[in-house]
Amino acid sequence: MNKYLLLILMLIISCNKNGNNLNIEETPKSENFKELGSDSPYIFGNTYFGRNNYISYYPGNLPLIITVSHGGGLTPQEIPDRTYGVLVTDSNTIELAKALRNYFIFNYGDSPYLIINNLKRTKLDANRDIVEAAQGNIYSERAFNEFHHYIRSARDDILKDNPSVLLLDIHGHGVNPDGFNDLRTWIGYLITSNQLDESDDYIDANIPINETSLRAILNKSDYSLSDLIRGKFSLGSLMEENNITSLPSLQNLSPNGSRYFSGGYITRVYGTDINHDISSIQLEFPYDGIRSSIEEINSFTPSFLSALNIFFGVHLNKDLIIND
Ligand SMILES: [Zn+2]
Repeated sequence: MNKYLLLILMLIISCNKNGNNLNIEETPKSENFKELGSDSPYIFGNTYFGRNNYISYYPGNLPLIITVSHGGGLTPQEIPDRTYGVLVTDSNTIELAKALRNYFIFNYGDSPYLIINNLKRTKLDANRDIVEAAQGNIYSERAFNEFHHYIRSARDDILKDNPSVLLLDIHGHGVNPDGFNDLRTWIGYLITSNQLDESDDYIDANIPINETSLRAILNKSDYSLSDLIRGKFSLGSLMEENNITSLPSLQNLSPNGSRYFSGGYITRVYGTDINHDISSIQLEFPYDGIRSSIEEINSFTPSFLSALNIFFGVHLNKDLIIND
């Protein structure tokens, strides 16, 4: 009896082995995906999901794009885990972005454009170049291509009716490796920690505007670079006025040796694009105080939008929030 059981078990194991091998060998190197954009036109009020719902796209009607690349939780079998790069999820950043969108819609009837990567970061990092992002898997590459196609579609749709676009790439930072729980929001403009440690005069004299992600705003503005990133009407200072402690800002001029992220692939690719009038900002929100619960997210949302609305009015000549 035991002998037969063993034989059956061995058969099952060997079948599974063969099955797995077969799957790996049969994973196609290419597949005839639908042409990007075949799900267009993109209409405000509708939602578009891309292949297998890996990406969500909510078209909007304001000159603001919000992207979330590291908040997803989907782990489909067809995409093996990425083997190098950062794999950590930015918890509750999808919830935070959706709360911002919902707040706009419920209170004003308007909405930013929102693009979300629903894949877990172990499967796709949409904030890296495609080689590191998808690590050769065609389904992950497809999701990457859809994510960025939707961003470009949103940008082009906005530029039909507006002179300029702002993209906010939303992330979350955790406790620093040295144990310091930095509760400030890190705002990234492609200006490094070391550059922020310099004086305003140094920054204005030595950092080329076109190498920052605010080039589109700066090329039409009377504000200097240092003013725009940490003066009275910088996003950081406006957030501080709304009780969201931020870096850089008037209150926190530079990281001063502590950990800080200046902006990744999305911020760079869109913010330094000389062919389109688009600026981008990377926002790294702390967990505690902002996104650790729905209650925190809900109290953060109106404060942040109040700051963002003033930033838009001053630097993009546009009120995001129209109060009747
Ligand atoms: Zn992130």
